[in-house]
Amino acid sequence: MWFWISLILLFASIGVHLRWKSRFRRAQSDIAGLERLQQLMQEEHARDRDREHIRQQTIFDGMLEGVAILDSQGTVQSSNLAFRRFLNITQETRGRRLDECVSHPDIPRLLERLARDGQVLGMEIILPGPPVRVLQANGNRLSGDQLTLLVFHDQTRIKELERMRKEFVANVSHELRTPLSLIKGFVETLMGGAVTDPVQAQKFLQTINKHTDRLTYLIEDLLTLSRLEGGQVSLNRKPTGLAEAAQQVIEDLETRAREQSVQVVNLIPEEMTVFVDAERLQQVFFNLLENAIKYGKVGGTVEIGAKSMVAGGVEVWVKDDGPGIPEESRTRVFERFYRVDRARARDTGGTGLGLAIVKHIVQIHGGEVWVNSEIDKGSTFHFTLPAESEAG
Ligand code: ADP
Repeated sequence: MWFWISLILLFASIGVHLRWKSRFRRAQSDIAGLERLQQLMQEEHARDRDREHIRQQTIFDGMLEGVAILDSQGTVQSSNLAFRRFLNITQETRGRRLDECVSHPDIPRLLERLARDGQVLGMEIILPGPPVRVLQANGNRLSGDQLTLLVFHDQTRIKELERMRKEFVANVSHELRTPLSLIKGFVETLMGGAVTDPVQAQKFLQTINKHTDRLTYLIEDLLTLSRLEGGQVSLNRKPTGLAEAAQQVIEDLETRAREQSVQVVNLIPEEMTVFVDAERLQQVFFNLLENAIKYGKVGGTVEIGAKSMVAGGVEVWVKDDGPGIPEESRTRVFERFYRVDRARARDTGGTGLGLAIVKHIVQIHGGEVWVNSEIDKGSTFHFTLPAESEAG
């Protein structure tokens, strides 16, 4: 009997032991699984954080503005590509004071103002270059934080446009004032009754007339240029005979050429056709030929020629045997109001806008314009016109 009871108890305890052992094992594997899961989640979080960091840095680096975050000591915590490019910084900025990264006299001033006022608005920093760059710095302390957000805007282009606009206004005012004051002077003299000789009075009136014409040309050229620059010109492109277009202009300027005893020769092959706005093309020919006659040699020859280019399109030229253009002026003659010899150019009644108009017309046709010149030998103005298929 006791034997049987002991045997039953033994089996029962073995059974309980085995059951607990398997439960324990299961619990153990459950815990290991949980730990693994936790680890996987942590890894995923870290990856998310990395991805977010890379995303933020990419956005940060894609910004046109130069951005940096500084701590209260002026130490860079992070900066974007534009910031480092603007300030020409090639080394790591993180952990270094901004005035150590950039040696510019305005940077310590900027840090000082940030530390004192907690902000800087519209501070202009000029970097010597080349090329010279104008930056505008704005800094603000981030609220509830010891960090400062510093943003640099590149103002170089805006400043350049501002300078050009001011220069243009000054030039236009000057160009308008000169003939106006001459006109006023002659009118006042005539009104004063001091000129009694009718021949003399007639001369005065002719001078007044000449200067009014100059004002009219100037205003017409200004309007043309402003339309061309403002992109308001729609081209009426058609297949146009090049030689014929040039011939028309030669005839229009015949009297002027005769006055200067200049012989104009049209060497453009008869059959050459271009796909252009004929009226605009004639304006190009007119301005170039008028200059060649005006600035060329008295009794000289002007040639107009053209050839097909290997790459397609045509190259046209207007060649004179005048005094030539000094090398340093050869690109500048296409600028508004630029004149090689100011006194002479004004004397010949020029507006200083003819070549700027030529350049714009050629460019909107998709071509290029340039001048080759040799002092005392002459100048050749060239321009290209794309082939019909290339023209937009
Ligand atoms: P302008 O009305 O003064 O002629 P342009 O823009 O047509 O203005 O020309 C600019 C300047 O370029 C002229 O003032 C002149 O000094 C110079 N220039 C233009 N064409 C010639 C040329 N064929 N030979 C020498 N100088 C020229």
